[in-house]
Amino acid sequence: MTTIEETRRIRAAAWAADLDLDALLITSLQNVRYLTGFTGSSANLLIYSDARAVLFTDPRYTVQSKQQVNCEVTIARGPLTGAVAAEVKRKRLIKVGFEPEHINVARLEGLTKAFPAKAKLVPAPEGLIAKLRMVKDEGEVKLIRAAVDINSSALAAALKRFKVGMTETALAAEIDYQSRKLGADGPAFDTIVASGARAALPHARPGAARIGIGMLLIDMGAFKNGYASDMTRMAYVGKADAKYKRVYRAVLEAQLAGIAAVRAGASAAAVDRATRRTLKLHSLEREFVHSTGHGLGLEIHEGPRLGKSDKTKLEAGMAITIEPGVYIEGWGGIRIEDTVLVTQTGCEVLTPTPKDLLEI
Ligand code: ZN
Ligand code: ZN
Repeated sequence: MTTIEETRRIRAAAWAADLDLDALLITSLQNVRYLTGFTGSSANLLIYSDARAVLFTDPRYTVQSKQQVNCEVTIARGPLTGAVAAEVKRKRLIKVGFEPEHINVARLEGLTKAFPAKAKLVPAPEGLIAKLRMVKDEGEVKLIRAAVDINSSALAAALKRFKVGMTETALAAEIDYQSRKLGADGPAFDTIVASGARAALPHARPGAARIGIGMLLIDMGAFKNGYASDMTRMAYVGKADAKYKRVYRAVLEAQLAGIAAVRAGASAAAVDRATRRTLKLHSLEREFVHSTGHGLGLEIHEGPRLGKSDKTKLEAGMAITIEPGVYIEGWGGIRIEDTVLVTQTGCEVLTPTPKDLLEI
């Protein structure tokens, strides 16, 4: 039976053949994982145009690679570069493609030096495997659902332990603790907890600030079996004032407009336009300083980017976030974010956490 990883390798190999390459060298660990199932921290993968493949890793992963991988494995006694070059020489490969966005200058020079004189390294088009990864299969969707559920349960559990006067760092630590206890591999990114005017910083790092009366922004994600979730929720500590309520409703309206615009065939940019148009009705579009969302999967940020200039057509099976926000210096910021799954007719909002205005 062909495994899902083999099916993916067959597709990658077809591209290698189309590009007239003898083989494609995969250096991104996430791409290696996607194409082989290998989760070690040191690996390269060579995929031949006939879909055979060789994984290169080091002796720490002798046992693990045997358990996880169903293609040929070479355990390199020294640097992977030498092992890859030896394979290229042995198989008399001439044209080897590499992932330009996943290699640095030193590594490329090292490979070039180690390769036989006849062999040449050529850049493959950027984002070749990323394109494959954008559309999730059933197994991946299952894992994303699990990551989303853990994330929402962790927020609920952490908020139960919330006390006025707690520091942002302490609440972030509580969220991470609850998330791991619920089965997460770990946070998908550094948990953001920003209170009061600090919520105006879209990527605030939690600090020693004590959380008092006022707004509270929490942006959190969990990895489950390698797959990410992402959610932002707001809470108001105490009784929300009129301005907070007004801006919250505007952002929620924009977020719902974004969700309503999602369906297979729509462009990523059209979804971004939908949130921006709604905020414009509330004269808040200038305060929305980032894109509407992003794909997620083995990484927290993957394609497509739901921004003004992304022409990617959405496809059923893409997992993306919808997260408009409004940031006002000196006042604070409001962002609402869900993880959603693109379907043929629209989308399914995976995040179960309610979005009603929350006072705690
Ligand atoms: Zn987020
Ligand atoms: Zn996000």
